Amino acid sequence: MLDSSLQETYDAVLRRNPGEPEFHQAVREVFSSLEVIQGRHPEYTDQGIITRLCEPERQIIFRVPWVDDEGTVQVNRGFRVEYNSALGPYKGGLRFHPSVNVGIVKFLGFEQIFKNSLTGLPIGGGKGGSDFDPHGRSDGEVMRFCQSFMTELHRHIGEYTDVPAGDIGVGAREIGYLFGQFKRLTNKYEAGTLTGKGLDWGGSLVRKEATGYGAAIFADEMLKARGESFDGRRVAISGSGNVAIYAAEKTAQLGGIAVTASDSSGYVVDEDGLDLDLLKQIKEVERGRISEYVDRRGGRSRFVENGSVWDVPVDIALPSATQNELDADAARTLVKNGVKAVSEGANMPCTPDAVDVFREAGTAYGPGKAANAGGVATSALEMQQNASRDTWSFGYTEDRLTDIMVGIHRTCLETAEEYGRPGDYVVGANVAGFRKVADAMIA
Ligand code: GLU
Repeated sequence: MLDSSLQETYDAVLRRNPGEPEFHQAVREVFSSLEVIQGRHPEYTDQGIITRLCEPERQIIFRVPWVDDEGTVQVNRGFRVEYNSALGPYKGGLRFHPSVNVGIVKFLGFEQIFKNSLTGLPIGGGKGGSDFDPHGRSDGEVMRFCQSFMTELHRHIGEYTDVPAGDIGVGAREIGYLFGQFKRLTNKYEAGTLTGKGLDWGGSLVRKEATGYGAAIFADEMLKARGESFDGRRVAISGSGNVAIYAAEKTAQLGGIAVTASDSSGYVVDEDGLDLDLLKQIKEVERGRISEYVDRRGGRSRFVENGSVWDVPVDIALPSATQNELDADAARTLVKNGVKAVSEGANMPCTPDAVDVFREAGTAYGPGKAANAGGVATSALEMQQNASRDTWSFGYTEDRLTDIMVGIHRTCLETAEEYGRPGDYVVGANVAGFRKVADAMIA
């Protein structure tokens, strides 16, 4: 239960945004933490900050017509939700996936406000995407879709306005097509308008790795705070996109053993630790299915078509696929198997019930808006490099990312302590993220 004034505001959000369950879930998750600030900050209530925060500053929905390889006209829907610009230009990814609708984009945009605030960098919150499904589409089709998408989007974005990047279904290839069209339409090489660019044309080293690296670093910090480490620990990772792959890479660097990866066809378990070169070859180069991993790797690897990756006994879980992929049953299985830390590489991968299970069990649980902030933080570092016409080394950029993740972890712990919930990373992340945005809005 929320307290009465938050419940009233939440009910108003439900009435105003019907049929958007993921958005409601994200709002409720933040509200459940804001109870600790009630009574301590009358200025937020007096100025209606919470109500104002829930309403995006601007929402753009547009038609995206394009021609497929058969010559047939296809129509998709494009979205950009420019949620909050109190701290800087709107910043957040684009997701191309058939499940995308305005509610999904609002949930992601809402999360992004607090995540971006936690990074300590000057970026506001936004998100966008389309219900376009890149799977099974040729390069030419993806290119024509991206060009059409940008033909509308370009008038809404810019390095001081709104800076999109990738998310599910949008990687370096799509950012390339989008940036090419932006450049053509505006006749400007404004590199800081999109992040996640290729390294030869304004991209940043470590950006590809950043979300996954950051989620593993956040897990490492949570473990260290409890006198534990990754050393020799088994780690379950879901997904096999760039978040999952680089969460596995950092896991290995920290001395852990990443034993799983998954996609929509099933999951693999490799008792000897994932072969990351093979995984990258299949997923990044060939865009193949995860089952191929087992065919080529052999040894002690196996493919499981039905079932949950969270059934695999592990010490650490890094859910890195998509929202609501880890439910209460899965959480109970992980707890039963002795999981020590859960760090979210994806956005909102654990259901609210799963989060309750972890909290009751005393598992260290790092919510996505803190744990996966390394991606957008490194996007902000890419913007810095673009603004100064500079390129930084891998080592320097990675050190900055590590410092940012360590700082977010510390901020979460300190804030949780300050508000009487020691060790609660959910309260720490939500309250710390919220306060900075709220103070900026009031100012
Ligand atoms: N899509 C990523 C996220 O969820 C990165 C956004 C960005 O780099 O702007 O935070």
